[in-house]
Amino acid sequence: MLKIDNLHAEIGGTEILKGLSLTVNAGEIHAIMGPNGAGKSTLSYVLGGRPGYEVTGGSVQFAGRDGTCDLLALAPHERAAAGLFLGFQYPVEIPGVSNLQFLRESLNAQRRGRGEEPLSGGEFLKLAREKAGLLKMDMDMMKRAVNVGFSGGEKKRAEMVQMGILDPLFAVLDETDSGLDIDALRVVGDGINAIMRDPAKGVLLITHYQRLLDYVKPDYVHVLAQGRIMKTGGPELAHRLENEGYEVVAA
Ligand code: ADP
Ligand code: MG
Ligand code: MG
Repeated sequence: MLKIDNLHAEIGGTEILKGLSLTVNAGEIHAIMGPNGAGKSTLSYVLGGRPGYEVTGGSVQFAGRDGTCDLLALAPHERAAAGLFLGFQYPVEIPGVSNLQFLRESLNAQRRGRGEEPLSGGEFLKLAREKAGLLKMDMDMMKRAVNVGFSGGEKKRAEMVQMGILDPLFAVLDETDSGLDIDALRVVGDGINAIMRDPAKGVLLITHYQRLLDYVKPDYVHVLAQGRIMKTGGPELAHRLENEGYEVVAA
């Protein structure tokens, strides 16, 4: 579903990703762990098409809604319309725009991009209620400005509601668990499972901590260090990393 081959990318002339290869098949959840500064967020930004991240080599193929495409050749909004979702380590605040407005605009922009009819206000509200309920997010919060004054946990929950509404084929979630208390972690973990655990979908779950993987069982765990995948294993690898550290395990 996602085939990253020998990817090289730089920021401001410094090479960060140095030949990263990774394949995720439909129905699989892959976790990526690794030390600070390894290039995990860079990978998610490159997949999303964030400006300033220059790809200098390699390829990314994505089997999206319109069949297999060269992901790196698409504009960011085209990647989203093809079914790619990015969850960010640091969600942005948008004063003056409510969660509901933002989500309705996002969804309908994607639908128009795919040649589908936009949802009416009533249809959208029904969908929003359902997805907010799934993530135990109050509808009052859905009416508040995007992320303004939200706690870390509330931001992540809002991001999961966004994912539920956009219903992507593939999600790249960058440290979705950072700053969550144990109850919020369970809600987010359950949300990822409910929305993305599907034979037709795929997930790249970037995390520092093993504990999220107790809720979202990965099929594979990779260690990203020095800009490439240094090691791959099953869920037991995450436990080893937590106990022994990256340097020992990736050596
Ligand atoms: P991780 O998410 O694994 O902690 P990042 O992808 O955020 O790592 O960063 C990888 C490396 O790229 C780090 O050495 C970081 O300092 C560097 N880096 C990240 N963003 C920028 C930037 N905008 N300009 C220059 N260097 C950057
Ligand atoms: Mg980091
Ligand atoms: Mg990061």
